[in-house]
Amino acid sequence: MRILIVGGGIAGLAMARALEQRGLTPDLIELKPDTHQGGTGLFLPGNAARALQQLGLLESIAAVAVPINTQRILDSRGRQLSATRTQDVWSTCGPCLALPRAILHATLRSSLRDTRLRFGTSFTAIEQLGEKSLVTFSDDTTCEYDVVIGADGINSKVRQKAFPGVSPLYTGNVCWRFITENIVGVDGWTVMLGNGSSLLAIPISADQLYVYADRAVNEREALQKARQLSLNTLLNEFSAPLFPLIAHRPVQAQVHFSRIEQVVTDGWVKGRVVLIGDAAHASSPSMAEGAAMAMEDALVLAETLTACTSINDALAAYMRRRKPRVDWVQQQCVARDKMRRLPGWGRVPLLKLAGNILYRRGYTPLTEPI
Ligand SMILES: Cc1cc2nc3c(=O)[nH]c(=O)nc-3n(C[C@H](O)[C@H](O)[C@H](O)COP(=O)(O)OP(=O)(O)OC[C@H]3O[C@@H](n4cnc5c(N)ncnc54)[C@H](O)[C@@H]3O)c2cc1C
Repeated sequence: MRILIVGGGIAGLAMARALEQRGLTPDLIELKPDTHQGGTGLFLPGNAARALQQLGLLESIAAVAVPINTQRILDSRGRQLSATRTQDVWSTCGPCLALPRAILHATLRSSLRDTRLRFGTSFTAIEQLGEKSLVTFSDDTTCEYDVVIGADGINSKVRQKAFPGVSPLYTGNVCWRFITENIVGVDGWTVMLGNGSSLLAIPISADQLYVYADRAVNEREALQKARQLSLNTLLNEFSAPLFPLIAHRPVQAQVHFSRIEQVVTDGWVKGRVVLIGDAAHASSPSMAEGAAMAMEDALVLAETLTACTSINDALAAYMRRRKPRVDWVQQQCVARDKMRRLPGWGRVPLLKLAGNILYRRGYTPLTEPI
């Protein structure tokens, strides 16, 4: 079976790995050069650890990642609203982990043996010729494939070709991210919730923290105003333990700013073209499930492609198995974003009384086998 994977992010690399594990040798094209190792940090809930285990990579990731044993929610003054022991929910899957995003990429990339990787390469056309797809690459070469897998992220060009009506939608939040020294001694996943803003810090190595802040802004304001305001002003309702990370962030800290968008669609399969990862179902990061969903997609699609008697059946089976789980994650992200925007008099008692229950309710379905 000739398979092309478009995109060498978490979804595409995991897809190649899962296919190799089953004896298939895909081609993979990635727009960026091989040396690109960007990004900030990642939190991986227990089902991501289980997916890594199934990809045969948990041991090497766990050796460098920070285990996250507690997830704490504080108010903007630093008073604790809830604390969840992650193992109470994830013990059947695996540990919750945090690490620099570049390490996950590098581990997935270096696990590949036979995949034909081409960096700095995109495509210009995908033409359906009966049961084959004829792909024209950015260097004008062409090749026929039985399956083309779009793993090219939220602004997927594969999706634009197959489903031109589907575009990413703004979720109502903008965010800032950076990596800095752990000057405040945070030792677990810790978020502070304010009025329309959140400030999150997660240790990703012995001395580094991944810091994420977001704020609800209407779409018109989103890019212009939020970008111009200083983070110190935007987040000044917060106090210790996390505000010092904003107030005293080093001048060289590279702050990534972005609008948060999602992709919601029922169409992941068109002929022999199939979408995985953010190309199919990008979500707000409120559940931190993006990497887990991407790796689970890869495992399920590799399994159906090797187990089903026809490719059409395999793609339909992939969609059937993955859609309910992904829908659940997207619904939970929307619910969490809505809850975070509640005024303090609604949000604070809700999290104090039911923080653990809400955590358990949101994540328990994801502990089920994929
Ligand atoms: C602010 C924020 C915080 C997040 N935090 C977390 C977190 O803590 N934990 C978590 O699990 N998830 C998190 N996520 C989500 C996670 O980052 C994504 O779900 C995940 O990266 C999706 O992987 P992907 O491979 O589908 O897409 P991407 O990572 O976007 O990879 C797509 C790849 O395709 C390549 N590409 C694009 N177009 C082409 C083309 N035409 N030809 C060839 N290649 C192409 C790109 O260069 C890229 O390498 C977060 C997301 C955001 C926005």
